[in-house]
Amino acid sequence: MALDIIGLGEPLIEFNQDPSRTGEPIYRLGHGGDTSNVTIAATRQGARTGYITALGADSFGDSFITLWQREEVDASRVLRDPVAHTGIYFVSHGPKGHVFTYMRAGSAASRLKPESLPLDYISGAKFLHVSGISQAISAVASDTVFAAVRHARTKGVKVSYDTNLRLKLWPLDRARAITHATVPLCDVLLPSLEDAEALTGLTDADAIADFYLKLGAPLVALKLGPEGALVATAAERRRIAGHPVKVVDATGAGDTFDGSFLAVLATGRDPFEAARYANAAAALSTQGYGAVTPIPRREQVLALLNTSGSARS
Ligand code: ADP
Repeated sequence: MALDIIGLGEPLIEFNQDPSRTGEPIYRLGHGGDTSNVTIAATRQGARTGYITALGADSFGDSFITLWQREEVDASRVLRDPVAHTGIYFVSHGPKGHVFTYMRAGSAASRLKPESLPLDYISGAKFLHVSGISQAISAVASDTVFAAVRHARTKGVKVSYDTNLRLKLWPLDRARAITHATVPLCDVLLPSLEDAEALTGLTDADAIADFYLKLGAPLVALKLGPEGALVATAAERRRIAGHPVKVVDATGAGDTFDGSFLAVLATGRDPFEAARYANAAAALSTQGYGAVTPIPRREQVLALLNTSGSARS
């Protein structure tokens, strides 16, 4: 069966601090990694998805295989690296929000080579989704992303790209160089305002959309936190209002937006409807702890859209 969306990148085991505990912190084990989260979010909205990565031959790798089976993300082309580990990150919650600490250097996913890509698999999808994190984890991972993206383009597979800037992984100048080189190769660009401000030096959402359209992205969905999103093409742009909620944990809101946005686009609907839906899904994802558990399913998203009077599906 043809897949709607294939993600490529690094899954990470998550240890998320339980902020309700006082004294010694307690970390709950979960699953994260931006592109894996995006494929799971898309699947929960009804899309058929697959994932490309390499995992360590360790129990954390096994737990990802179990997760993707449970979530119905096709992992049939995921590789296991016998000598490298599955990446890990910690989320701590402080007065300024969540703080990430990574233990991912040398991980199996960061060693994935262009020669190991399942090109035939990518050829059959509607969308290939990659991110700045998929590129930042190592030089060879960056080469692998470019190889996958270029292959997708030759096969008519649409490329979706979240800039996902992580300055712990690479310096700003390198991030800018690689990100700006990738934007013209993508069909759907999904930056957050915070990333885009750092990457472009601009602060105005419309100016940022103009910058990326001019650079060559045909469709930009700029994520604006509680304000929702600005969706822009050369022909039309609209601000799509968010669903303001009292946030419990915003980890993965951007990933939920991306997966939901792509899942709706894959059904053939327009990007403005996709953003309306994705705002609702992303708002719901902030209502629980961790990156994966609170990602809502289609019925929950439709219920929120119905209550707010903006359901279209
Ligand atoms: P990221 O999570 O990548 O930093 P944003 O903070 O812009 O990106 O959040 C992504 C999306 O999540 C937003 O476009 C919006 O749909 C939703 N969102 C984020 N924060 C809130 C919030 N406080 N209330 C409602 N929706 C939110």
